[in-house]
Amino acid sequence: MGSAATAAGIKGLGDVAPHVEAAAVEIGQKFGVTNIGGRASSGHINGSDHYTGHAIDVMVYKDKTKGDAVMNYALSNWDRLGIKYVIWYHVYHPSPTKTENYIGPNPHTDHVHISFNSKPGSGGPAVDTGSETSGPDLQGCLSKLIPGLG
Ligand SMILES: [Zn+2]
Repeated sequence: MGSAATAAGIKGLGDVAPHVEAAAVEIGQKFGVTNIGGRASSGHINGSDHYTGHAIDVMVYKDKTKGDAVMNYALSNWDRLGIKYVIWYHVYHPSPTKTENYIGPNPHTDHVHISFNSKPGSGGPAVDTGSETSGPDLQGCLSKLIPGLG
């Protein structure tokens, strides 16, 4: 975790890509969230963007209003932040204007999952997760995201 995240008091981010950290700091500071899961070596679905440091879990716990606000912020700043997709409250957002029901193993009702492209902005290709098991119905997060938190 870089100094920007440390300065912002964010816990749990780990070694994520620089534009992912920048987005986490921006969202954390805007919405007053300090528990943001990032890079992980286990605890997620095969092919998860968490394993490459290209996903964050913005923990809002029972605050659905805050989760809705984080989701809307992600949709509004999609290309600038280099977002690939968002999962929040049973809904998968493959683009800012499309939604699908999310039926994966975690309902994503206590955190907003945000996956990022390999590069910031809209030009970078999506991170190749190299597996057909990484579709939207499978990808995401399992229930225990940050040991010792929540
Ligand atoms: Zn996640």
